[in-house]
Amino acid sequence: MGSGTDMKIRVMELPCERNFSLPLGFVRAAIEGLPLRAALGAGPEDPAGEAKSEISLYGEDENVFVRGTLSGWLEVACSRCVGPAQVAVDEDLQVTFMPTGAIPEEPGEPESETEIEDDDLELYPFDGETIDLEPLLRDQLVLSVPFAPLCDDACRGLCAVCGSNLNDGDCGCEREVVDPRLAALKNIKL
Ligand SMILES: [Zn+2]
Ligand SMILES: [Zn+2]
Repeated sequence: MGSGTDMKIRVMELPCERNFSLPLGFVRAAIEGLPLRAALGAGPEDPAGEAKSEISLYGEDENVFVRGTLSGWLEVACSRCVGPAQVAVDEDLQVTFMPTGAIPEEPGEPESETEIEDDDLELYPFDGETIDLEPLLRDQLVLSVPFAPLCDDACRGLCAVCGSNLNDGDCGCEREVVDPRLAALKNIKL
């Protein structure tokens, strides 16, 4: 498998089913730049995650409907101790690709008069001929990062006084009771 994982499907081929393996490099590029990933200070050799996706596509009128799953894992910073936290990816995909010109101007506006009412309906543009699943899979990886990931449910977080990792043992500081999640967030540069 070269660097170019081909995630493009021509409308002529529909309906069809495709399985994709998303390698480490793809996952890393997708979550790079997220605060919870940047907080790890991970280098290019550090694990980022892996995922696979099973997708079925079918066309109706000019639109292409994409249904499937995305599963795997990725690594971001624990929201308590800022150490590595592996989180499971398990997403259902349900999006619609529309020809670029047919997309409503502001699909996100709740009060706008768009005909698309379904909250679950996500729209992606395409040129009418070729579906590129790469932006979709990239977005879904980002969306699968939890708001407050944990390295372990029992993670003790960082000492609010000296900042040492309490999972490594108690530092002996006198601490008021502080939500350890808030302590960890102080160390994340947003
Ligand atoms: Zn932790
Ligand atoms: Zn301490």
